[in-house]
Amino acid sequence: TARLDGKVALVTGGSRGIGAAVALRLAEDGADVALTYQGGAERAEAVAAKITALGRRGWAVRAESADPQEVQAVVAAVAERFGRLDILVNNAGVGVLGPIGEMALEDVDRVLEVNVRAPFLFAQAASDRLAEGGRIVTIGSCIARRVAFPGASLYATSKAATIGLTKALARELGPRGITVNVVHPGPIDTDMNPADGDSAEFQRGLTALGTYGAGTDVAGAVAYLVSADGRYVSGAELAVDGGFAA
Ligand code: NDP
Repeated sequence: TARLDGKVALVTGGSRGIGAAVALRLAEDGADVALTYQGGAERAEAVAAKITALGRRGWAVRAESADPQEVQAVVAAVAERFGRLDILVNNAGVGVLGPIGEMALEDVDRVLEVNVRAPFLFAQAASDRLAEGGRIVTIGSCIARRVAFPGASLYATSKAATIGLTKALARELGPRGITVNVVHPGPIDTDMNPADGDSAEFQRGLTALGTYGAGTDVAGAVAYLVSADGRYVSGAELAVDGGFAA
């Protein structure tokens, strides 16, 4: 894979889980990486320190995805601090599962703000600033394509929106050589979906491989899409789901 030397990436929700793996992988590939978090300052700083140890510029910034002002401010701050912006990875997300009748209005607002409105606003703020040949990757979910169990109405609604955003932006930004894609993880071992959680065995059974994936599996797909090798891939949905969708 061609290296990302000289590129600047912004990864939302980079303090842990998939986002931390993506932030570290992009730094390994040569990029300077800013990462956002909401409450996990220590873990975010630890990821930034690892990026610095790799010889890249790393920056952990608190930015609440549900706050439009903070979203706009952090994109501007990253572009200013690093002098450019090449890659946006919309990763931060939340999940609330359960029967539709149990979804409180606050749940609905929270999930839509973080999983739908924030990726839209991040892309909006980044679109003017992204360099020619820039990249936007949003982390969707295998649930956006195939809902294999009940209780996912709110989460699936939010994740399906990442597909529309991706395809529409691919059309809009394509003339500037900017690609826009969505990666759909299956069960990935993180705080959100631990491989020893109550539903882990059930989830394993929904995959073809019968196992959980790791954040690094998703990071590898993101690294490909943002690399020079990915330059002709746009508007695509890439499943990294152990065969969940098969
Ligand atoms: P985790 O819960 O492990 O990590 C979530 C990350 O997002 C943390 O860095 C967290 O920051 C950040 N974050 C959450 N809410 C906000 C917010 N309001 N503002 C700013 N940052 C926020 O999640 P995963 O790594 O498992 O998931 C990452 C993405 O992948 C999500 O979009 C998720 O929906 C998606 N996904 C995950 C799957 C899985 O099986 N794990 C499967 C399919 C999709 P902080 O540490 O500060 O809280």
